[in-house]
Amino acid sequence: MDQITNPKETTQKTMKANKPCYNCSSLMEVKRTTLHFERGGFYADVENVLAYICPHCGTRSISGPTAQRISQLVDDLFRSASESVIAEKPVPFTGVSMHRVAD
Ligand SMILES: [Zn+2]
Repeated sequence: MDQITNPKETTQKTMKANKPCYNCSSLMEVKRTTLHFERGGFYADVENVLAYICPHCGTRSISGPTAQRISQLVDDLFRSASESVIAEKPVPFTGVSMHRVAD
């Protein structure tokens, strides 16, 4: 289940290597993962999120700014969907997919 879509990306420049897992102290690997959110009958998947993943226990760690941006984005999506449900209006969208166009 290797989700790295573009191995040429130099992810190591912005993320420090050799970060130890806070759970088991193994060295974590920089990989891409999918985050799943579920709220009020809706779910959202955010794909290819750059994260530290522990190869030993599977603990995931996402850098603060990235995690903040993702949770803000997902909050906004859930909010507009649930506002429509409360107002008994048709939900304006039920899915968002964002991918980098392959070169
Ligand atoms: Zn671990």
